[in-house]
Amino acid sequence: LPEYAFIGRSNVGKSSLINMLTGRKSLAKTSGRPGKTQLINHFKINGNWFLVDLPGYGYAKVSKKDKKIFQKYITEYFEKRKQLVCGFVLVDVRHEPQPIDLEFMDWLGENQIPFAIIFTKADKIKPSDLDQKVKDYLQQLLDGSWEETPPYFVTSSAKHIGREELLSYIDGINQDYFKATS
Ligand code: GDP
Repeated sequence: LPEYAFIGRSNVGKSSLINMLTGRKSLAKTSGRPGKTQLINHFKINGNWFLVDLPGYGYAKVSKKDKKIFQKYITEYFEKRKQLVCGFVLVDVRHEPQPIDLEFMDWLGENQIPFAIIFTKADKIKPSDLDQKVKDYLQQLLDGSWEETPPYFVTSSAKHIGREELLSYIDGINQDYFKATS
């Protein structure tokens, strides 16, 4: 079955997003404590795809040790999983592009792993500032090493925003996937 990997800095709102997508409250434990999602968890959704919950990486200052652990788990996962069709890189919509996120997106690009960006916590920004904030973020990718912006989604787990868009995006990829493999 096709797999979709969800990844981001600790505290970005990954557990909350996963709970919003699956509609199950107790699935992924949320907490204010960074670094709580430790292992790689697979959730089977609708019987036809896997949501893969990867450990959160480097919060606050990224220590060398953190970075090593992150790289080991994440690169091992990405290198082994043949069924991975798309990675979702979660970023807090309030924040400037973070070096570790940019580095990770570059790494995905170099390894030809398709990915999309999920902006989280959209409810924490004034609606009138939201579009510009997202535009600025994407522009910084273009100013950096990217020639085009990846697909992106603006979400809020608190306000239940972006769920349908994300699920229908995944559904679209799944349909192509099953066409190609049948
Ligand atoms: P994780 O470490 O990436 O899994 O992040 P969590 O899902 O545990 O969320 C970290 C913190 O951010 C928690 O206090 C959540 O309640 C909060 N949070 C997560 N998503 C949202 C959101 O969409 N809006 C708001 N306002 N807070 C959020």
